[in-house]
Amino acid sequence: MTAPVLAPVRRVPFHDLRDLHALDGVQAQIDAAVLRVARSGRYLLGPELAAFEAEFARYCENEHCVGVGSGLAALELTLRALGVGAGDEVIVPGHTFVATWLAVSATGARPVPVEPEADSYLIDPARVEAALTPRTRAIMPVHPYGHPVDLDAVEAVAAARGIPVVEDAAQAHGARYRGRRIGSGYVAAFSFYPGKNLGALGDGGAVVTSDARLAERIRLLRNYGSRVKYRHEERGTNSRLDELQAAALRVKLPYLDAWNARRDEVAARYTEALTGLPGVTAPPVRSWAEPVWHQYVLRTAHRERLGDALAAAGVETLVHYPVAVHRSPAYADEPVGALPLSERLAAEVLSLPMGPQLSAQDVESVVAAVHDAVRTSQERKPGEEPGDQS
Ligand SMILES: *Cc1c(COP(=O)(O)O)cnc(C)c1O
Repeated sequence: MTAPVLAPVRRVPFHDLRDLHALDGVQAQIDAAVLRVARSGRYLLGPELAAFEAEFARYCENEHCVGVGSGLAALELTLRALGVGAGDEVIVPGHTFVATWLAVSATGARPVPVEPEADSYLIDPARVEAALTPRTRAIMPVHPYGHPVDLDAVEAVAAARGIPVVEDAAQAHGARYRGRRIGSGYVAAFSFYPGKNLGALGDGGAVVTSDARLAERIRLLRNYGSRVKYRHEERGTNSRLDELQAAALRVKLPYLDAWNARRDEVAARYTEALTGLPGVTAPPVRSWAEPVWHQYVLRTAHRERLGDALAAAGVETLVHYPVAVHRSPAYADEPVGALPLSERLAAEVLSLPMGPQLSAQDVESVVAAVHDAVRTSQERKPGEEPGDQS
């Protein structure tokens, strides 16, 4: 059989931040903001941070925002401010980025993983309840890939025990749960890592809360435990969102809703194209959720083969995340049993290019490449699996 002559394929990068900043004249605005801060003589705890904190709290439909050095710091400082420490347990998802667990470990507490639902990547509230022990001090759900978990169900479990829910919202800026913004509840931690839906020019994070005292405690902790210079009320740390990052985030925040809406269009097109394709499963969307598609994550038992075929067609993919956290060397010494659902997700997930910077042509290139890859693997005779030989 002769190979069909194909039109030259356009390369689709996974997520190019230069393309993102080229949208809506944002790069020129970032350049101006950087210069403004560079020439201001104020680099920490200044007017840009104060303004961003007010703007992001309002965006999240909440009262208080405290800017910190990273998403990991936002989670860790929240747990510390709530008094979580050695001997305590915090419930976390089995399927998440390692930072969720690391924040718990950093306080001296033990992360207690809970499996996702069988047919999604969302934490299962029934399993959260089953994982409670007398030592459980907080529940830390993640809104994975920008899709809200069933917060009412998780909050009901927490309320029955009188413990807080600390939302890891690092992937969910702008998402809504039953109409409410993620970040509008008791406390949520955000990351502004450059690749997140709202990203800085380096590391950054924030805690958003309705609790004035909790916000105040985190303000202390992020700044050496001091309110007044050289008066140290407790053993804090140094983790502040700097003026340069705050200024860049202020430029991008007004575009977040429109950029998330574009992500939703891309996701809708992907899901339409994947539905009915053999061997691949599109990500489900729950009735309560307005997700913001930090990643578009499909599932397939033939991930390596599909990823290789897409790469050959010029479509870049990534895996979020290839190794379940409890299977990482970092947690080899933790007494965690088998987590078959989390392990299966780690083996099957594949992320397609996603972001508001993707053109309609980019999206169609991805769709065509996925269709070609699936068709080619269907045409192959059983047992003939050139991509799978070891
Ligand atoms: C990105 C991320 C974090 C950590 O944020 P950093 O700013 O990189 O420290 C935590 N949890 C989840 C789910 C994330 O995706």
